[in-house]
Amino acid sequence: MPITCRKCRSANAEVYIPYARLSLCPKCFLDFYVRRVKRTIEDFSMFTEDLTVGVAISGGKDSAALLHALHHAYPNLRLVALHVNLGIPKYSAHCQGKVEELAKMLDVELHVFNLYKELKIRIGDFEKTIFKKKICSACGTIKRHIFEELARKTKVDVLATGHNLDDVAGIMFNNFLYGHWDQLIRLKPVLPPLMEGFAVKVKPLIRISENENLLYCLYADVSFREIGCPYSKGTSAKKRTKDFNNLSKNNPYFRHQVLNRFLELIPMLENIHPKTVLVKCQVCGFPSSGSICAFCKRVLLVKNTIDNDLVV
Ligand code: SF4
Ligand code: ZN
Repeated sequence: MPITCRKCRSANAEVYIPYARLSLCPKCFLDFYVRRVKRTIEDFSMFTEDLTVGVAISGGKDSAALLHALHHAYPNLRLVALHVNLGIPKYSAHCQGKVEELAKMLDVELHVFNLYKELKIRIGDFEKTIFKKKICSACGTIKRHIFEELARKTKVDVLATGHNLDDVAGIMFNNFLYGHWDQLIRLKPVLPPLMEGFAVKVKPLIRISENENLLYCLYADVSFREIGCPYSKGTSAKKRTKDFNNLSKNNPYFRHQVLNRFLELIPMLENIHPKTVLVKCQVCGFPSSGSICAFCKRVLLVKNTIDNDLVV
């Protein structure tokens, strides 16, 4: 016999939210999701409606659900969609197509940074460098920097990313295991600007699982990418997720517990670990822990490798 939705008490329930013990129909699930995003934004004082919020969108379900939910939760908020085209054959064009489709559907301003057009490099070029086996690490550095740059160019006050509960809890757990305290601190829901003139970074989906994002996209008719990045196969991040998933298999609260305990721990860690002193990168002027930032080092490395290949 079908279960009735616990909220409206009329439609059939299709979704079960284990941590809230709620069976919901699609419409009530969409309301639940948007309210949860709003509540997270309020609980962590992420932003107010008079600010401009940039959303880093990749074409995947998490950031697509985030942009759509923010648009519905705050109809008067100035939202700007930001996207990086990484120059990965087939994949990047497909992702950009999905992003353009969503921005058009919501009538949201979209800014795309094309890595090849702007810098004459593609993510695949890192295969010829020492990052051959760590493409995602190089890609992460490149994307983080470009999103900061796009946020500055488009004058957004707050940069929102689609990090979900599974990502954040999994990475927190891993950083804890390996004692990467600085990286654990960086997983806070709200990160202050690196320097004056930079955006505040927020994670409004930090309490929402990957599965909930998927369901939101499906029920709200939000189209997202259907193909995977060719470099994602067998990465250590995927392996870590598998280990973490095994631990949380029999406990629906596990990820929430991990997140909550680490959020309690972070202020103590911040007291123990002195903040890294940042200076301006000599090449791009962005905040950096050394004289040349990680982004510029990687771009220079790739450009030199390409130039040497041309000479040979
Ligand atoms: Fe970049 Fe790795 Fe993600 Fe592909 S899977 S987009 S290379 S971080
Ligand atoms: Zn730099």
